[in-house]
Amino acid sequence: MAQDTQSESRKLLQRLRDALAEDSAGQERLDKITHLIATSMGAEVCSIYLFRDQDTLELCATEGLKKDAVHQTRMKVGEGLVGRVAKASKVINTDDAPSAKGFRYMPETGEEIFSSFCGIPVQRLGENLGVLVVQSKERRSFSPDEVYALEVVAMVLAEMTELGAFVGEGAAMSARHQQSVLLRGTSAQEGAAEGHVWLHEPRVVVTNPVADDPEVELVRLTEAVDELRVGVDKMLSGAVRGDKEQSEVLETYRMFANSKGWMRRMEQDIARGLSAEAAVEKEQSTARARMEQATDAYLRERLHDLDDLSNRLLRILTGQGAETGAEMPADPILIARNIGPGELLEYGRGLRGIVLEEGSVGSHAAIVARALAIPLVIHADRITTEALNGDHIMVDGDQGIVHLRPDDTVVTAFRDKIAMAAKAQERYASIRDKAATSTDGITIEMHMNAGLMADLPSLNSSGAEGVGLFRTELQFLVRNKMPKRTELAQLYSRVMEAANGKRVVFRTLDIGSDKVLPYMAPQDEPNPALGWRAVRVALDKPGVMRMQLQALLRAANGRALTVMFPFVAQYSEYRDAHAEVLKALERERILGHPLPEDIQIGAMLETPSLAFAPQKFFEEVDFLSIGGNDLKQFFFAADRENERVRRRYDTLNVSFLTFLEGIVNRCASTNTPVSFCGEDAGRPIEAICLAAMGLRILSMRPASIGPVKSLIRRTDLGALRAVIHEARERGEQSVRHSVMEFLRNSS
Ligand code: PEP
Ligand code: MG
Repeated sequence: MAQDTQSESRKLLQRLRDALAEDSAGQERLDKITHLIATSMGAEVCSIYLFRDQDTLELCATEGLKKDAVHQTRMKVGEGLVGRVAKASKVINTDDAPSAKGFRYMPETGEEIFSSFCGIPVQRLGENLGVLVVQSKERRSFSPDEVYALEVVAMVLAEMTELGAFVGEGAAMSARHQQSVLLRGTSAQEGAAEGHVWLHEPRVVVTNPVADDPEVELVRLTEAVDELRVGVDKMLSGAVRGDKEQSEVLETYRMFANSKGWMRRMEQDIARGLSAEAAVEKEQSTARARMEQATDAYLRERLHDLDDLSNRLLRILTGQGAETGAEMPADPILIARNIGPGELLEYGRGLRGIVLEEGSVGSHAAIVARALAIPLVIHADRITTEALNGDHIMVDGDQGIVHLRPDDTVVTAFRDKIAMAAKAQERYASIRDKAATSTDGITIEMHMNAGLMADLPSLNSSGAEGVGLFRTELQFLVRNKMPKRTELAQLYSRVMEAANGKRVVFRTLDIGSDKVLPYMAPQDEPNPALGWRAVRVALDKPGVMRMQLQALLRAANGRALTVMFPFVAQYSEYRDAHAEVLKALERERILGHPLPEDIQIGAMLETPSLAFAPQKFFEEVDFLSIGGNDLKQFFFAADRENERVRRRYDTLNVSFLTFLEGIVNRCASTNTPVSFCGEDAGRPIEAICLAAMGLRILSMRPASIGPVKSLIRRTDLGALRAVIHEARERGEQSVRHSVMEFLRNSS
């Protein structure tokens, strides 16, 4: 019996394929298909309902129901039996439809006379496209094998829908990939961008859902799975030793790749007439549907793994790699689940925007996106399944919103926003060469943060007076092996040349916490942000720091050099690091290399402890730079990477401002230059408050220099200081409200 059904369903699929190969299109084709299914299943009715919009299904073709109901009968998702199938993405199979829960009588179709109903969701990769329905007068329930055959047919239908085969004139079908979608994510780099989708890993297109010879398909599947297993084993043996997480993922891959159930289901699908790739995709579809419903994070992750594995298998089977021959649009917006910093750098500045399904604000990819000033939205759920290559897309990096295939009103509003931003840029360009002097005559030095050679041109375009923070770790992060001294020396030298005499503050390697080098054994630390990082690593294992210091001295080649140590928590750490610089200088002298004409050695103040260091520290250190990102997270004990708490405490909280004021005063007492180089320096409101607290040097992203300078030039910093002090006296927790009111009154 099972064998019979298999051959029946195969026969049905063959006929279906022949019908598709014929020269019909749109409605005619749909009609042919419903006729074919009804006769093959021995049922009076076969209908296809497709989504017209997100909540409405429309009868698009039928054999057996009244023809004039086609494109007239509609129902909401969840309404009637068809709507229930669509809503729950589950099969409904009943021999007594009129008594079934949710039955809705639709006189226009004449359906009350049919007692048996079998509705199958038409899905592709977990997304609902419509419902395939078979009905018969005879009171019978469709057998599991028949249901199975219908599911396979529904899948083939979905493939055809996806390929646009049904979209004939007049057919009011609207596949999900044609609808506009708004996705809310998290902002990781501000800015607005309009462009067209470029998928980092495009979906594999299955063009041959139905196969002639199951034997051939079985061999193809088996060979592909073997290749997959070998690949996974190789990855496992090549996994970074000690990286528990990576090995765990790969172990899961191996488990799936060897799973008998997975294989058996795919073999069954092939026996029923599907091609090997369609069988893989059917399994993937089921996993996706489960993924959408899984509430357990662990299970969801594992289903994600299965999804990845299916993609690999599909690539092996179809020979479609990342290269699908598609051409990158001129205005690409990159879409990916996640992406590494190296891959992102390869795309470079050509990208208009980036949208990631995962990622984190402090990830390396985000650091690179920020360095390249490309708007970035992360945590945009479902973006990789919703977007297709070439789709029109608008990315609002300020709000963390993505408009996919936006409709006209959104397009107009968004373009207005971009135009306004462009106008503002023109305004900023006009003050580029002017000083950031407040209305009461206080001048703030404006420097920029950098980390890549690609940042240096911004030194001129932004009007920055120097590089207040050069994050050297990016060069280490984007490689897969430790860079050589000569490579680094060349890079630093190019940076100094590009700076053309302006000061560049080179921060020594700041790794650990979220910045993990791919080629260094990861530390399994319970609390990495409070762990073995930055200068702690440098002092415990000084080899890399020594190499880096030497590279900096060689790059300076006699020019002035500024070096800064990150994450100094106590005086002795600065002293020890300082001693390393002296040692490096001595070594260079002995080797006969030119020594810098001047060398400034500073520290980042990123832990509250350093603010209370002995006076001698403040006297000794050449300069300090407040790393507000870290300092704030330790001051409030709120992880800067944790979405739940990272915005919980306002930078304009009086406790924090008072603390900063104290640091400024201590530095003033020893004449120690102090700057602020955390993200807050680039936020105009925060920046003027920092200036009001006495900070005279700010270092920020190049794109922020214009907006910050513009506001400083319109502000009376003395008056603002008074406003902040008064708010503090009144016991306000954050001075933001008072500051905003002050700005409104003074504009
Ligand atoms: C900071 O902590 O404020 C800082 C500038 O360093 P990073 O963001 O690289 O940790
Ligand atoms: Mg820091």
